[in-house]
Amino acid sequence: MEIPDILIVGSILLACGSCGLLVVRLSNPRLKGLGWLGGSFGAGGIGALLLLLHGSVPAFFSVLCADVLILLAFVLLHISFLDLVDSDSNLRSSGLLLLVIQALGDVPYLYPHPVVHLRIVSVGVLVAVQVLLTVRLLVCSNKKGVRAPVWFCVIILGGFAALNLLRSIADAVGLLSTASIFYQVEALTFLIYIATALGIAFGFFWMTTATLSSALEEIASTDPLTRIYTRRVFREWCEKELIRSEQTGSTFSLLMVDLDHFKQINDRFGHRAGDDALCAVVEQMQRSIRGIDVLGRWGGEEFVVLLPGASASSALQIAQRLRGNVETLMIPPSISAFSRGEEAIPVTVSLGVASYRGVGDQIEDMLERADAALYEAKDAGRNRVLAAI
Ligand code: GH3
Ligand code: MG
Ligand code: MG
Repeated sequence: MEIPDILIVGSILLACGSCGLLVVRLSNPRLKGLGWLGGSFGAGGIGALLLLLHGSVPAFFSVLCADVLILLAFVLLHISFLDLVDSDSNLRSSGLLLLVIQALGDVPYLYPHPVVHLRIVSVGVLVAVQVLLTVRLLVCSNKKGVRAPVWFCVIILGGFAALNLLRSIADAVGLLSTASIFYQVEALTFLIYIATALGIAFGFFWMTTATLSSALEEIASTDPLTRIYTRRVFREWCEKELIRSEQTGSTFSLLMVDLDHFKQINDRFGHRAGDDALCAVVEQMQRSIRGIDVLGRWGGEEFVVLLPGASASSALQIAQRLRGNVETLMIPPSISAFSRGEEAIPVTVSLGVASYRGVGDQIEDMLERADAALYEAKDAGRNRVLAAI
Protein backbone atom coordinates (compact mmCIF):
# COMPACT_ATOMS: atom_id res chain seq x y z
CA MET A 1 0.00 0.00 0.00
CA GLU A 2 1.28 3.46 -0.92
CA ILE A 3 1.66 6.17 1.73
CA PRO A 4 -0.96 8.53 0.17
CA ASP A 5 -3.52 5.68 0.22
CA ILE A 6 -2.77 4.97 3.86
CA LEU A 7 -3.09 8.65 4.71
CA ILE A 8 -6.43 8.93 2.89
CA VAL A 9 -7.82 5.85 4.71
CA GLY A 10 -6.40 7.15 8.01
CA SER A 11 -7.85 10.64 7.71
CA ILE A 12 -11.30 9.29 6.67
CA LEU A 13 -11.34 6.81 9.59
CA LEU A 14 -10.23 9.44 12.10
CA ALA A 15 -12.72 12.02 10.78
CA CYS A 16 -15.60 9.51 11.02
CA GLY A 17 -14.40 8.45 14.49
CA SER A 18 -14.20 12.07 15.60
CA CYS A 19 -17.73 12.89 14.37
CA GLY A 20 -19.13 9.71 15.96
CA LEU A 21 -17.47 10.45 19.30
CA LEU A 22 -18.70 14.05 19.31
CA VAL A 23 -22.28 12.90 18.56
CA VAL A 24 -22.11 10.37 21.45
CA ARG A 25 -20.66 13.10 23.69
CA LEU A 26 -23.43 15.57 22.80
CA SER A 27 -26.19 13.02 23.36
CA ASN A 28 -24.65 11.80 26.67
CA PRO A 29 -23.09 14.86 28.36
CA ARG A 30 -22.34 12.80 31.47
CA LEU A 31 -20.00 10.41 29.65
CA LYS A 32 -16.51 11.55 30.53
CA GLY A 33 -13.61 12.14 28.18
CA LEU A 34 -15.47 11.44 24.93
CA GLY A 35 -15.35 15.07 23.76
CA TRP A 36 -11.57 15.19 24.22
CA LEU A 37 -11.20 11.83 22.45
CA GLY A 38 -13.29 13.17 19.57
CA GLY A 39 -10.99 16.22 19.45
CA SER A 40 -7.98 13.91 19.48
CA PHE A 41 -9.28 11.93 16.49
CA GLY A 42 -10.14 15.18 14.71
CA ALA A 43 -6.63 16.61 15.22
CA GLY A 44 -5.07 13.32 14.02
CA GLY A 45 -7.35 13.25 10.96
CA ILE A 46 -6.52 16.84 9.92
CA GLY A 47 -2.82 16.15 10.59
CA ALA A 48 -2.95 13.11 8.25
CA LEU A 49 -4.75 15.18 5.60
CA LEU A 50 -2.08 17.92 5.75
CA LEU A 51 0.67 15.29 5.39
CA LEU A 52 -1.17 14.03 2.32
CA LEU A 53 -1.07 17.53 0.84
CA HIS A 54 2.71 17.65 1.24
CA GLY A 55 4.14 19.44 -1.82
CA SER A 56 0.81 21.02 -2.81
CA VAL A 57 0.58 23.38 0.16
CA PRO A 58 3.33 25.44 1.84
CA ALA A 59 5.59 23.39 4.13
CA PHE A 60 4.39 25.46 7.07
CA PHE A 61 1.04 23.61 6.82
CA SER A 62 2.12 20.19 5.57
CA VAL A 63 5.02 19.98 8.04
CA LEU A 64 4.78 22.25 11.06
CA CYS A 65 0.96 22.25 11.36
CA ALA A 66 0.69 18.55 10.50
CA ASP A 67 3.29 17.50 13.09
CA VAL A 68 1.84 19.75 15.78
CA LEU A 69 -1.67 18.41 15.07
CA ILE A 70 -0.48 14.80 15.28
CA LEU A 71 1.22 15.46 18.63
CA LEU A 72 -1.87 17.44 19.71
CA ALA A 73 -3.93 14.30 19.04
CA PHE A 74 -1.91 12.48 21.72
CA VAL A 75 -2.07 15.42 24.14
CA LEU A 76 -5.88 15.41 23.77
CA LEU A 77 -5.92 11.63 24.17
CA HIS A 78 -4.08 12.12 27.48
CA ILE A 79 -6.65 14.71 28.60
CA SER A 80 -9.51 12.35 27.68
CA PHE A 81 -8.00 9.65 29.92
CA LEU A 82 -7.44 12.23 32.69
CA ASP A 83 -11.15 13.03 32.47
CA LEU A 84 -12.20 9.39 32.40
CA VAL A 85 -10.16 8.28 35.40
CA ASP A 86 -11.09 11.43 37.40
CA SER A 87 -7.46 12.29 37.92
CA ASP A 88 -6.57 15.66 39.40
CA SER A 89 -3.06 15.33 37.97
CA ASN A 90 -1.79 18.47 36.31
CA LEU A 91 -0.16 16.84 33.29
CA ARG A 92 -1.95 19.03 30.76
CA SER A 93 0.87 21.60 30.91
CA SER A 94 3.49 19.01 29.92
CA GLY A 95 1.49 18.44 26.73
CA LEU A 96 1.68 22.14 25.91
CA LEU A 97 5.43 22.10 26.47
CA LEU A 98 5.83 19.14 24.10
CA LEU A 99 3.76 20.96 21.44
CA VAL A 100 6.03 24.02 21.66
CA ILE A 101 9.15 21.83 21.39
CA GLN A 102 7.63 20.08 18.37
CA ALA A 103 6.84 23.39 16.64
CA LEU A 104 10.39 24.67 17.28
CA GLY A 105 11.86 21.33 16.16
CA ASP A 106 10.14 21.70 12.79
CA VAL A 107 11.59 25.16 12.10
CA PRO A 108 14.82 23.79 10.48
CA TYR A 109 12.59 21.90 8.07
CA LEU A 110 11.14 25.11 6.77
CA TYR A 111 14.56 26.33 5.58
CA PRO A 112 15.51 25.92 1.91
CA HIS A 113 17.51 22.77 2.79
CA PRO A 114 15.23 20.84 5.15
CA VAL A 115 16.70 18.55 7.79
CA VAL A 116 14.28 15.68 7.11
CA HIS A 117 15.59 13.19 9.64
CA LEU A 118 15.60 15.64 12.55
CA ARG A 119 11.87 16.05 11.97
CA ILE A 120 11.19 12.29 11.95
CA VAL A 121 13.25 11.77 15.11
CA SER A 122 11.61 14.66 16.97
CA VAL A 123 8.02 13.62 16.09
CA GLY A 124 8.74 10.03 17.12
CA VAL A 125 10.38 10.94 20.43
CA LEU A 126 7.83 13.60 21.44
CA VAL A 127 4.84 11.39 20.59
CA ALA A 128 6.46 8.55 22.57
CA VAL A 129 7.05 10.85 25.58
CA GLN A 130 3.41 12.03 25.55
CA VAL A 131 2.12 8.46 25.17
CA LEU A 132 4.36 7.24 28.02
CA LEU A 133 2.89 9.99 30.25
CA THR A 134 -0.56 8.58 29.42
CA VAL A 135 0.67 5.05 30.19
CA ARG A 136 1.93 6.28 33.58
CA LEU A 137 -1.42 7.96 34.26
CA LEU A 138 -3.30 4.73 33.49
CA VAL A 139 -0.95 2.52 35.52
CA CYS A 140 -1.22 4.84 38.54
CA SER A 141 -5.01 5.23 38.29
CA ASN A 142 -6.75 3.04 40.83
CA LYS A 143 -10.30 3.25 39.59
CA LYS A 144 -12.32 0.27 40.72
CA GLY A 145 -13.59 -2.36 38.27
CA VAL A 146 -11.65 -1.19 35.18
CA ARG A 147 -8.41 -3.15 35.48
CA ALA A 148 -8.81 -5.22 32.28
CA PRO A 149 -9.56 -2.30 29.90
CA VAL A 150 -6.87 -0.16 31.58
CA TRP A 151 -4.25 -2.84 30.95
CA PHE A 152 -5.51 -3.28 27.39
CA CYS A 153 -4.90 0.45 26.76
CA VAL A 154 -1.56 0.33 28.58
CA ILE A 155 -0.32 -2.52 26.35
CA ILE A 156 -1.45 -0.79 23.14
CA LEU A 157 0.01 2.59 24.13
CA GLY A 158 3.19 1.07 25.58
CA GLY A 159 3.81 -0.92 22.37
CA PHE A 160 3.08 2.15 20.27
CA ALA A 161 5.52 4.32 22.27
CA ALA A 162 8.21 1.62 22.01
CA LEU A 163 7.79 1.39 18.22
CA ASN A 164 8.01 5.19 17.89
CA LEU A 165 11.20 5.27 19.95
CA LEU A 166 12.70 2.41 17.92
CA ARG A 167 11.94 4.19 14.67
CA SER A 168 13.48 7.42 15.94
CA ILE A 169 16.62 5.62 17.15
CA ALA A 170 16.92 3.71 13.86
CA ASP A 171 16.64 6.98 11.97
CA ALA A 172 19.06 8.82 14.26
CA VAL A 173 21.79 6.18 13.79
CA GLY A 174 21.30 6.18 10.02
CA LEU A 175 19.56 2.81 9.58
CA LEU A 176 16.84 4.42 7.47
CA SER A 177 19.13 6.32 5.10
CA THR A 178 18.17 4.19 2.08
CA ALA A 179 15.16 5.78 0.34
CA SER A 180 13.21 2.51 -0.15
CA ILE A 181 13.68 1.37 3.47
CA PHE A 182 12.75 4.85 4.67
CA TYR A 183 9.56 4.74 2.57
CA GLN A 184 8.57 1.29 3.81
CA VAL A 185 9.17 2.23 7.45
CA GLU A 186 7.11 5.40 6.98
CA ALA A 187 4.24 3.41 5.42
CA LEU A 188 4.37 0.87 8.26
CA THR A 189 4.45 3.70 10.82
CA PHE A 190 1.29 5.27 9.40
CA LEU A 191 -0.45 1.89 9.43
CA ILE A 192 0.55 1.46 13.10
CA TYR A 193 -0.86 4.92 13.90
CA ILE A 194 -4.23 3.90 12.37
CA ALA A 195 -4.26 0.52 14.16
CA THR A 196 -3.41 2.25 17.46
CA ALA A 197 -6.25 4.77 16.99
CA LEU A 198 -8.74 1.91 16.44
CA GLY A 199 -7.38 -0.03 19.43
CA ILE A 200 -7.53 3.00 21.71
CA ALA A 201 -11.09 3.83 20.64
CA PHE A 202 -12.08 0.27 21.57
CA GLY A 203 -10.13 0.40 24.86
CA PHE A 204 -11.65 3.77 25.75
CA PHE A 205 -15.22 2.50 25.22
CA TRP A 206 -14.38 -0.63 27.19
CA MET A 207 -13.14 1.57 30.06
CA THR A 208 -16.24 3.77 29.82
CA THR A 209 -18.67 0.83 30.02
CA ALA A 210 -16.66 -0.83 32.81
CA THR A 211 -16.65 2.47 34.78
CA LEU A 212 -20.40 2.88 34.32
CA SER A 213 -21.25 -0.70 35.29
CA SER A 214 -19.05 -0.55 38.41
CA ALA A 215 -20.68 2.80 39.39
CA LEU A 216 -24.16 1.29 38.87
CA GLU A 217 -23.19 -1.78 40.88
CA GLU A 218 -22.03 0.47 43.72
CA ILE A 219 -25.23 2.54 43.62
CA ALA A 220 -27.35 -0.62 43.66
CA SER A 221 -25.45 -2.29 46.49
CA THR A 222 -24.83 0.55 48.96
CA ASP A 223 -27.21 2.65 50.97
CA PRO A 224 -26.76 6.28 49.83
CA LEU A 225 -26.88 7.75 53.36
CA THR A 226 -24.76 5.38 55.43
CA ARG A 227 -22.66 3.79 52.63
CA ILE A 228 -23.25 0.29 53.99
CA TYR A 229 -24.87 -2.65 52.14
CA THR A 230 -28.51 -2.54 51.13
CA ARG A 231 -30.96 -5.24 52.23
CA ARG A 232 -30.61 -7.06 48.86
CA VAL A 233 -26.82 -7.37 49.05
CA PHE A 234 -26.94 -8.23 52.76
CA ARG A 235 -29.29 -11.14 51.98
CA GLU A 236 -26.90 -12.37 49.28
CA TRP A 237 -24.08 -12.44 51.87
CA CYS A 238 -26.36 -14.37 54.27
CA GLU A 239 -27.31 -16.95 51.62
CA LYS A 240 -23.61 -17.52 50.84
CA GLU A 241 -22.90 -17.97 54.55
CA LEU A 242 -25.80 -20.41 54.88
CA ILE A 243 -24.44 -22.56 52.04
CA ARG A 244 -20.95 -22.44 53.57
CA SER A 245 -22.30 -23.54 56.95
CA GLU A 246 -24.32 -26.36 55.39
CA GLN A 247 -21.25 -27.61 53.54
CA THR A 248 -18.61 -27.21 56.24
CA GLY A 249 -20.67 -27.64 59.41
CA SER A 250 -19.60 -24.19 60.67
CA THR A 251 -22.04 -21.81 62.33
CA PHE A 252 -22.99 -18.13 62.11
CA SER A 253 -25.34 -15.61 63.72
CA LEU A 254 -27.45 -12.62 62.75
CA LEU A 255 -28.14 -9.44 64.70
CA MET A 256 -31.16 -7.21 64.15
CA VAL A 257 -30.48 -3.71 65.51
CA ASP A 258 -33.02 -0.90 65.99
CA LEU A 259 -32.37 2.61 67.31
CA ASP A 260 -34.40 3.43 70.41
CA HIS A 261 -36.87 6.32 70.29
CA PHE A 262 -35.24 7.57 67.15
CA LYS A 263 -38.34 9.51 66.15
CA GLN A 264 -37.69 11.82 69.10
CA ILE A 265 -34.26 12.74 67.72
CA ASN A 266 -35.87 13.74 64.43
CA ASP A 267 -38.65 15.62 66.20
CA ARG A 268 -36.33 17.54 68.51
CA PHE A 269 -33.36 18.24 66.26
CA GLY A 270 -34.70 17.88 62.74
CA HIS A 271 -34.31 15.29 60.01
CA ARG A 272 -30.79 16.44 59.11
CA ALA A 273 -29.56 15.84 62.64
CA GLY A 274 -31.38 12.46 62.50
CA ASP A 275 -29.41 11.56 59.37
CA ASP A 276 -26.13 12.56 61.05
CA ALA A 277 -27.09 10.45 64.04
CA LEU A 278 -27.73 7.42 61.81
CA CYS A 279 -24.29 7.83 60.19
CA ALA A 280 -22.61 8.22 63.60
CA VAL A 281 -24.29 5.03 64.88
CA VAL A 282 -23.24 3.12 61.74
CA GLU A 283 -19.62 4.26 62.21
CA GLN A 284 -19.71 3.17 65.81
CA MET A 285 -21.22 -0.20 64.88
CA GLN A 286 -18.54 -0.72 62.25
CA ARG A 287 -15.88 -0.07 64.87
CA SER A 288 -17.54 -2.62 67.18
CA ILE A 289 -17.66 -5.60 64.80
CA ARG A 290 -14.93 -7.76 63.28
CA GLY A 291 -13.45 -7.33 59.80
CA ILE A 292 -15.27 -10.44 58.51
CA ASP A 293 -18.67 -9.30 59.79
CA VAL A 294 -21.13 -7.73 57.34
CA LEU A 295 -23.24 -4.71 58.23
CA GLY A 296 -26.36 -3.77 56.26
CA ARG A 297 -29.22 -1.29 56.47
CA TRP A 298 -32.48 -3.19 56.75
CA GLY A 299 -34.54 -0.02 56.34
CA GLY A 300 -35.19 3.24 58.21
CA GLU A 301 -33.36 3.10 61.54
CA GLU A 302 -32.99 -0.69 61.51
CA PHE A 303 -29.74 -2.46 60.76
CA VAL A 304 -28.61 -6.07 60.39
CA VAL A 305 -25.27 -7.71 61.07
CA LEU A 306 -24.03 -11.05 59.76
CA LEU A 307 -21.47 -12.67 62.07
CA PRO A 308 -19.77 -15.52 60.17
CA GLY A 309 -18.45 -18.30 62.43
CA ALA A 310 -20.04 -16.75 65.56
CA SER A 311 -21.84 -19.17 67.91
CA ALA A 312 -24.82 -17.99 70.00
CA SER A 313 -22.58 -17.07 72.95
CA SER A 314 -19.96 -15.15 70.94
CA ALA A 315 -22.76 -13.39 69.01
CA LEU A 316 -24.22 -12.26 72.35
CA GLN A 317 -20.81 -10.90 73.38
CA ILE A 318 -20.41 -8.99 70.10
CA ALA A 319 -23.97 -7.65 70.40
CA GLN A 320 -23.32 -6.44 73.96
CA ARG A 321 -20.09 -4.75 72.87
CA LEU A 322 -21.92 -3.06 70.00
CA ARG A 323 -24.76 -1.90 72.28
CA GLY A 324 -22.29 -0.54 74.86
CA ASN A 325 -20.26 1.33 72.24
CA VAL A 326 -23.36 2.98 70.71
CA GLU A 327 -24.46 4.02 74.20
CA THR A 328 -21.33 6.16 74.55
CA LEU A 329 -22.40 8.31 71.56
CA MET A 330 -23.99 11.69 72.22
CA ILE A 331 -26.05 13.29 69.50
CA PRO A 332 -25.44 17.03 69.44
CA PRO A 333 -28.50 19.20 68.80
CA SER A 334 -28.67 21.52 65.81
CA ILE A 335 -27.22 25.04 66.24
CA SER A 336 -30.72 26.55 66.72
CA ALA A 337 -31.64 23.89 69.31
CA PHE A 338 -28.27 24.44 70.99
CA SER A 339 -28.98 28.19 71.22
CA ARG A 340 -32.32 27.35 72.89
CA GLY A 341 -30.27 25.64 75.59
CA GLU A 342 -31.02 22.04 74.57
CA GLU A 343 -28.44 19.49 75.61
CA ALA A 344 -26.86 16.69 73.65
CA ILE A 345 -28.76 13.45 74.11
CA PRO A 346 -27.54 9.86 74.24
CA VAL A 347 -28.57 7.39 71.58
CA THR A 348 -29.13 3.71 72.29
CA VAL A 349 -29.99 0.57 70.35
CA SER A 350 -31.89 -2.64 71.08
CA LEU A 351 -30.69 -5.89 69.53
CA GLY A 352 -32.11 -9.32 68.73
CA VAL A 353 -29.72 -12.22 68.14
CA ALA A 354 -30.44 -15.39 66.15
CA SER A 355 -27.96 -18.21 65.54
CA TYR A 356 -27.87 -20.91 62.89
CA ARG A 357 -29.60 -24.08 64.06
CA GLY A 358 -28.04 -26.50 61.58
CA VAL A 359 -29.07 -27.98 58.22
CA GLY A 360 -32.66 -27.05 57.34
CA ASP A 361 -32.54 -23.63 59.04
CA GLN A 362 -33.30 -20.78 56.62
CA ILE A 363 -32.19 -17.12 56.50
CA GLU A 364 -35.82 -16.00 56.45
CA ASP A 365 -36.49 -17.96 59.68
CA MET A 366 -33.33 -16.63 61.33
CA LEU A 367 -34.31 -13.04 60.47
CA GLU A 368 -37.78 -13.62 61.92
CA ARG A 369 -36.29 -15.01 65.15
CA ALA A 370 -33.87 -12.07 65.42
CA ASP A 371 -36.75 -9.65 64.82
CA ALA A 372 -38.91 -11.31 67.48
CA ALA A 373 -36.01 -11.14 69.97
CA LEU A 374 -35.49 -7.47 69.10
CA TYR A 375 -39.10 -6.65 69.91
CA GLU A 376 -38.81 -8.50 73.18
CA ALA A 377 -35.78 -6.33 73.95
CA LYS A 378 -37.87 -3.24 73.17
CA ASP A 379 -40.68 -4.45 75.42
CA ALA A 380 -38.20 -5.21 78.18
CA GLY A 381 -37.16 -1.55 78.32
CA ARG A 382 -34.84 -0.94 75.28
CA ASN A 383 -31.02 -0.48 75.23
CA ARG A 384 -30.55 -4.22 75.68
CA VAL A 385 -29.70 -7.46 73.86
CA LEU A 386 -31.93 -10.53 73.73
CA ALA A 387 -31.20 -13.85 72.06
CA ALA A 388 -33.90 -15.83 70.22
CA ILE A 389 -34.89 -18.97 72.02
P1 GH3 B 1 -38.56 2.47 68.97
O1 GH3 B 1 -37.65 2.63 70.12
O2 GH3 B 1 -39.83 1.81 69.31
O3 GH3 B 1 -37.92 1.83 67.80
O4 GH3 B 1 -38.98 3.95 68.55
P2 GH3 B 1 -38.57 4.75 67.28
O5 GH3 B 1 -38.95 6.16 67.45
O6 GH3 B 1 -37.11 4.52 66.97
O7 GH3 B 1 -39.38 4.01 66.15
P3 GH3 B 1 -40.45 4.52 65.13
O8 GH3 B 1 -40.69 3.36 64.21
O9 GH3 B 1 -41.63 5.11 65.83
O10 GH3 B 1 -39.73 5.70 64.34
C1 GH3 B 1 -38.68 5.50 63.49
C2 GH3 B 1 -38.27 6.84 62.95
O11 GH3 B 1 -37.10 6.74 62.19
C3 GH3 B 1 -39.34 7.46 62.10
C4 GH3 B 1 -38.61 7.87 60.83
O12 GH3 B 1 -38.93 9.17 60.45
C5 GH3 B 1 -37.15 7.79 61.24
N1 GH3 B 1 -36.31 7.48 60.11
C6 GH3 B 1 -36.32 6.38 59.34
N2 GH3 B 1 -35.38 6.48 58.38
C7 GH3 B 1 -34.76 7.67 58.56
C8 GH3 B 1 -33.70 8.36 57.86
O13 GH3 B 1 -33.13 7.88 56.88
N3 GH3 B 1 -33.33 9.57 58.33
C9 GH3 B 1 -33.95 10.13 59.42
N4 GH3 B 1 -33.50 11.32 59.83
N5 GH3 B 1 -34.95 9.52 60.07
C10 GH3 B 1 -35.35 8.32 59.65
MG1 MG C 1 -36.50 2.54 66.49
MG1 MG D 1 -37.77 0.62 63.68
